[in-house]
Amino acid sequence: MKLSVWTYEGPPHVGAMRVATAMKGLHYVLHAPQGDTYADLLFTMIERRNHRPPVTYTTFQARDLGSDTADLFRTTCLDAYERFRPEALIVGASCTAELIQDDPGGLAEGMGLPIPVIPLELPSYQRKESWGAAETFYSIVRGLAQPRARTESVSCNILGATALGFRHRDDVAEVAKLLTGLGIAVNVAAPLGASPSDIARLGAAHFNVMLYPETGETACRWLEREFDQPYTRTIPIGVGATRDFVAEVVRLAGLPEGTQADESGLRLPWWSASVDSTYLTGKRVFVFGDATHALAAARVARDEMGFEVVGLGCYNREFARDVRAAAKDYGLEPLISDDYLEVEAAIAEAQPELILGTQMERHIGKRLGIPCAVISAPVHVQDFPARYGPQMGHEGANVLFDTWVHPLVMGLEEHLLHMFRDDFEFHDAAGPSHLGGHAVAAPPAPAGEEGSIPDEPAAPSPAVEPGATIWALEAERELRKIPFFVRGKARRNTEAYAEARGIRAITLDTLYEAKAHYAR
Ligand code: SF4
Repeated sequence: MKLSVWTYEGPPHVGAMRVATAMKGLHYVLHAPQGDTYADLLFTMIERRNHRPPVTYTTFQARDLGSDTADLFRTTCLDAYERFRPEALIVGASCTAELIQDDPGGLAEGMGLPIPVIPLELPSYQRKESWGAAETFYSIVRGLAQPRARTESVSCNILGATALGFRHRDDVAEVAKLLTGLGIAVNVAAPLGASPSDIARLGAAHFNVMLYPETGETACRWLEREFDQPYTRTIPIGVGATRDFVAEVVRLAGLPEGTQADESGLRLPWWSASVDSTYLTGKRVFVFGDATHALAAARVARDEMGFEVVGLGCYNREFARDVRAAAKDYGLEPLISDDYLEVEAAIAEAQPELILGTQMERHIGKRLGIPCAVISAPVHVQDFPARYGPQMGHEGANVLFDTWVHPLVMGLEEHLLHMFRDDFEFHDAAGPSHLGGHAVAAPPAPAGEEGSIPDEPAAPSPAVEPGATIWALEAERELRKIPFFVRGKARRNTEAYAEARGIRAITLDTLYEAKAHYAR
């Protein structure tokens, strides 16, 4: 185990909480130390849920370790059952509780509760959150799903959406709309919104739609094996993938070949063609997230937006194989890592103009001065908008366009501000317009100078560290003419160029030489 300030995924019992919280009528009894109730905040604060997760913690303390913690678990289980009267119970241990080896599953099963009790075996020190969610959902499906006759008209289940997922709520609604438009009924959507009795009737559907392999594939595979239900492999993110998804669904549902979805609400193709082509074409993007979202984003970025993918990676090693294969196709070395410092270094090295990443990369982008659009969990409050904002299907494609292109368009506006930089409203001290900067008077030019900055190189500031590279004012002034969204890159390139040649003071010439060097 590695201690880290930030982490892409929590321990597997947080994954179990995501499944329990997504469902109705299910309760989770978690053998865990006192501090573990922090996990509730992920759902109430980040996801803005209006109720606590359906989780009861044993909250043992250090002094309990000398006495009977197994008895504490039994009492907690009974209390939870009597208080919440769930249709089914899942039981498990958090990382610390795993070490005291009380076997919550065995203890709960031995209690003779009148509802199904599903034990979870989640090895906290080998596995992580998404795996924990997948394993929990699979255990629930295996424990509760029963063979059923198929529905009369063709139907499917939508599987994989959980609480605390990136736009899962809206993806399920958008995909359900797409399927209904094709004449396919949704039998059950799970775990999000499903009850244990809904899980029991999963077998009535003709096939399954797997929305999120990270959390849904284990259950889909089991249902295919046990109930002979095929499942979709295409994830409908972007225009091309949504069309491929529809074709796959048409085949699984036995609809007439060539059946297509109504695309009248789709705006991405024309919108991306309509934006000044020099503005999108060839923009260098770095893509990082969970494997499913990263792969989908890379395809949209290259094929539908005209960007150049200069970095591709994922943090969940279980799905790394697909990312490795795709990276070859993009001519890239894949980045498979759950170390955000390694990701930051790779982004700094690639110097992209846009990052498509998680909330971690959004912070990295802030530090490096590179715009970032979020495409994947881990999530933050702003990933749970009050409005409808799916990533999948037709409306999802429209949302991708808005979310990815706006950070770049903002750059265009800033570029115009730079062209009018000497205007009384638009000088540097006024602050960026989109951040609510208020115009203030431009600083007066130094006495005796025509321009605002003297042309002679300035003496090194006393604060400059010995050996550090310094910028002559004329070079600094030229650098400021470069639009802000590429200025950081120009500065870094020039400094790297100077450092490699032992140049300490960067002059106008150095700046142009570096420019020529990198343009070659
Ligand atoms: S049990 Fe695990 S999740 Fe809970 S505080 Fe300890 S390390 Fe963190």
